[in-house]
Amino acid sequence: MHIPFLDLPAQQKRMGSGLQDRVAKVMDHCRFVLGPEVEELEKKLQEFTGVSHAVTVSSGTDALLLMLMAEGVKAGDGVLLPSFTYVATAEVICLLGAVPIFVDVDPKTYQISPTSLEAKIQEYQGKLPLKVILGVDLFGHPAPWNELKAIADKSGITLLSDCAQSFGGKLDGKFLGNQAVATGLSFFPSKPLGCYGDGGCVLTNDPERAALYRSIRNHGCGDKRYEIKRLGLNARLDTLQAAVLLSKLEIFTEDLARRAKVAERYNDKLPELFQRPQCTKGAEPAWSVYCVQVDTERRDDLAKFLEDNGIAHAIYYPKPLHMQDAYKQGNKEQDGLIVSEMLAKRVIALPIYPDLTEQSQDYVIEKLQEWAKG
Ligand SMILES: *Cc1c(COP(=O)(O)O)cnc(C)c1O
Repeated sequence: MHIPFLDLPAQQKRMGSGLQDRVAKVMDHCRFVLGPEVEELEKKLQEFTGVSHAVTVSSGTDALLLMLMAEGVKAGDGVLLPSFTYVATAEVICLLGAVPIFVDVDPKTYQISPTSLEAKIQEYQGKLPLKVILGVDLFGHPAPWNELKAIADKSGITLLSDCAQSFGGKLDGKFLGNQAVATGLSFFPSKPLGCYGDGGCVLTNDPERAALYRSIRNHGCGDKRYEIKRLGLNARLDTLQAAVLLSKLEIFTEDLARRAKVAERYNDKLPELFQRPQCTKGAEPAWSVYCVQVDTERRDDLAKFLEDNGIAHAIYYPKPLHMQDAYKQGNKEQDGLIVSEMLAKRVIALPIYPDLTEQSQDYVIEKLQEWAKG
């Protein structure tokens, strides 16, 4: 038996010929950059989330970069973010010369800890201009946005969201994308809504920010062609990817339900010794990742056991960002992110995707029961 970590061919089969038709249409009209499918997708994303502006971009990383550029984040500014996240969250901060201030996470939900956030704000206030809190909805789970918003409002720092892993998740009945001033999405193939290459989007309810994003993604253009108002990027979404995403959006609600079902079965059936991911209050995760915790001393053994039994798995993430060579900065003050360091040694992600059959999942569960006994 071989259980992959992701099964895109099965999903493609389920989508049927609609996908090919949409792609063929783009090949026909040949408007490959900012073609009609891009606009159609943006409208659909607005309808889906209830957010008033969706500006598609070339990747999740570019979404975050232009969100920070639009806030005027520059060299020497401070941006707060969790240490336990994907590298892109920190990368964009450093590309602008700003300083990443790493915050610890909650040991049960894996999400940014409001207590640690407040402590870091206190520690850094007055030392450098604190411009942005960049929250992350890790592993498909909503961060504690209500608490984050209260802290951001109190301290006068702009709250932005990295929702790259969690599109389709909800908090208090509202889709993610409605909680922060602006939210970045990724359409990388393994994300909840994935295209067939790179893609991303910025969501916001603020028309002025939306206009800025549209300008920055297209070289900082003004209303007229070759009128350049500001520093920008080439960060547009390809029309072909928009066509793929329009097809994927048609099955997205079903995909989310299928993922939730897989998560529910893991929650029910895994042996006790696997610590399940816990949800923030009021959360409905998108379940892009199902990450359990095991004893540090036994994780390598588990990884090997899974490999020997043909079960794909991943370690998200083996090192928190403040310990990565590129982000250490020899800064002692970034120490003490104890939970992030602990999680990096304990987490292991199991296969979860819409087309994972019950039969395949039962095989994974049986094997994990076998390992737990041994
Ligand atoms: C994937 C990811 C990104 C970057 O998205 P890309 O589309 O790959 O550029 C940013 N942040 C997080 C948390 C991610 O998981």
